[in-house]
Formats: sequence, C-alpha cells, structure tokens
Amino acid sequence: SKVLLTGGSGFIAAHVLELLLQRGHEVVTTVRSEDKASKIRSAHPEAKLSIVIVPDIAQPNAFDEVMNTPGLEAVIHTASPFHYNWTDPKTELLDPAILGTTSVLKAIKQYAPGVKRVVITSSFASILSDAGLQDPKKVFSEADWNPNTYEDGLKDNKATSYRVSKTLAERAGWDFVKNEKPNFDLATICPPLVFGPVVHHLNSLQAINTSNARFVDVMQGKMRDEIAPSGVHFWVDVRDVALAHVQAMEKPEAGGKRFFVLCGKFSNRELVAAVRKNCPELKDKLPAEDAKGGDYPEAGFPGYDNSQATNVLGIEWIPLEKSVTDTIKSLQAVGA
Ligand code: NDP
Repeated sequence: SKVLLTGGSGFIAAHVLELLLQRGHEVVTTVRSEDKASKIRSAHPEAKLSIVIVPDIAQPNAFDEVMNTPGLEAVIHTASPFHYNWTDPKTELLDPAILGTTSVLKAIKQYAPGVKRVVITSSFASILSDAGLQDPKKVFSEADWNPNTYEDGLKDNKATSYRVSKTLAERAGWDFVKNEKPNFDLATICPPLVFGPVVHHLNSLQAINTSNARFVDVMQGKMRDEIAPSGVHFWVDVRDVALAHVQAMEKPEAGGKRFFVLCGKFSNRELVAAVRKNCPELKDKLPAEDAKGGDYPEAGFPGYDNSQATNVLGIEWIPLEKSVTDTIKSLQAVGA
C-alpha cells in the first residue's frame, strides 16, 4: 500500500520505515527539517519513498498539504515529543502531542478518503497509573487507562506531563473515531521503555533518543559506582515495536484495538549483566557484580498481559540479552 509515516526521523519511526520499505510498501514520510530529509533520502536512494517537511505538527492545518498525496491507504502517526528539555509543557509537549494527533486525523478525513487504517504510536504511559505501579498484584493490560488529567500535565513534574501528553493524544484518537465516524479505523501501539539499535544515521550520541540514554551512561562508566534506578521495569525491543506498527496496519483484525507491546520485565541490574557477558571490551566501564542499585522494588513490580499483541500481531519477542547487545553494538558504531 501507500503509507504516510509521520516523524520518519525518530528512533522508532526509522525502524518502521525500514520495515515498510522491506515489505514493498510505498512510503511518504514527514520530518521537521531539510537536514533530516536529506539524510533519510541518502540512506534509501532506491526506495519508493518521498519526504515532506512539516515544521510544526501543533499547527491545526499542519498535515493538510501532505494528506493531499494521491492514493494514500494507511497512516502511521509516530511524531510526538519524547524528551524532557522543554520549559513550557503546553506549547512544547501537550500541543504537539494532542493537537498533532487531531490535526492528522482531521486532515485524513477531509483530504484522504482512501485511508482505511490509522496506527498511532501511543505508550504504556497511557495505560499506567501511579497506584498500579505501586501494587505488585496489579496486572497491566490494554483495559487500563492512565487517570491523569490535562491539569496534571501542567504541574511541575516532567514525567507526569509526558504521560499526560500520550494519554490525551491517544484518547483524542479514539474520540475522533467515535464522534466523527471517518472512513478509517484505528489501532494504537502502547510500548513501555523501548531499547534497541539505532538505525537512523541521524543522531549524535549527545542527542541520543530518551529510552536508549541509559546505554550511553553504562558505556561511559556513569554506573560504575552504583547502578541507576530502572524506572518502569517493562521493556520491548524497537524492532518488535516497528513490527507491531506494520502488522497493526496490515492485519484487518487489528482495527479498533489497543496493543500493549512488551517483551516483559527488566531491571538495570539485568541490563548491566547482559553488557558484562556480551561486551567484554566495556569491562572497565561497568560496575562490580556486587555494586549497589538497579534492582526490582523489594515488594515486587506489577505484572503484565501482552497476549493480545502476541496473538493478534504475531510477535515473538526479542529477548533482553540480544536487545542489549545489539543496542551497544549500534551505539559503538555511531561513536560511543
Ligand atoms: P524520538 O525522539 O527519536 O522520536 C520522536 C519523533 O517525533 C521524531 O521524529 C521527532 O522529530 C518528532 N517530534 C518530536 N517533537 C515534535 C514536534 N514538536 N513537532 C514535530 N515532530 C516532533 O523518540 P521515539 O522514536 O522513541 O518516539 C517515537 C514515538 O514513540 C513517540 O510518539 C513516543 O511518545 C513514543 N514512545 C516511545 C517510547 C520509547 O521508549 N522510546 C515508549 C513509548 C512510546 P525530530 O527528529 O525532528 O526531533
């Protein structure tokens, strides 16, 4: 099919782009600058690929022009801020996430009636709750929604603001489909922490994507004395996340569903152990085996149900050790 992929320069989107092209789809992708456009273009000289600059996705009509591309059949919307270097949560985070999503959907309805399936990159952020994360008996699944409100997103907590941006963007997607009854249906992909190799020739190590930042810390010896806290103890490999997007686009039965896509649990201690085992060249940078930190909470971490993604999307999850090793190798290749 002919597919529009938003944010083609991103860590996850770069893998989605590769897989779409591998499977013979024709791709139109949006990026924010000519610099990124030319890097993507030169990485795929032979591909059925066109690149369109959309500088500000928070503008109400940002996607009108690109949606006029004849023949579009599916849209994968990944572009959304995932970093913490902003000062104003409304204009720099919530607006691009939420208005970005609604402007994509409005433009499809108005200009691209041939689009039958839309896949949105949401997040475990739209599933989790603070109470659930503290409850070892909780089992997270697609049935759960983050209860935080828009107002919570404006308070002085960057992690909460990001989680609100993802939750309300995904809700806006489902509400749009319910209220506007467009020609397309929707599937959403909800990954927790995404690890895995960087394929884009786009970012320097200084600008590493947020979810791989801990690997750079490990490689630079920043966890030598003490292993950093793991944060949310759920993870998935970026290649599985890309596969989930493309399967959710291709499979009729994925329509109308959210997918909690994850391999399982991890701790930073296990991550460091995988580096120790597979990357002997990094020995001097790593913490001692009995170093403190990086464990699961003493009371335990909640459970998860990834059966819908496993069954409907048909994913065999890449295990942690492989993901960690491949991530390190790819970062070494870009200069870490
Ligand atoms: P990246 O930071 O690599 O990608 C983010 C993408 O969104 C980039 O293409 C970026 O463009 C674009 N973008 C960010 N802000 C804006 C904006 N204001 N206007 C236009 N484009 C913008 O991170 P990921 O690949 O990890 O993130 C991709 C998606 O996956 C996001 O929706 C994120 O919320 C979601 N996600 C990520 C997880 C993870 O652990 N990595 C987990 C769960 C969900 P540019 O390259 O120009 O900066």
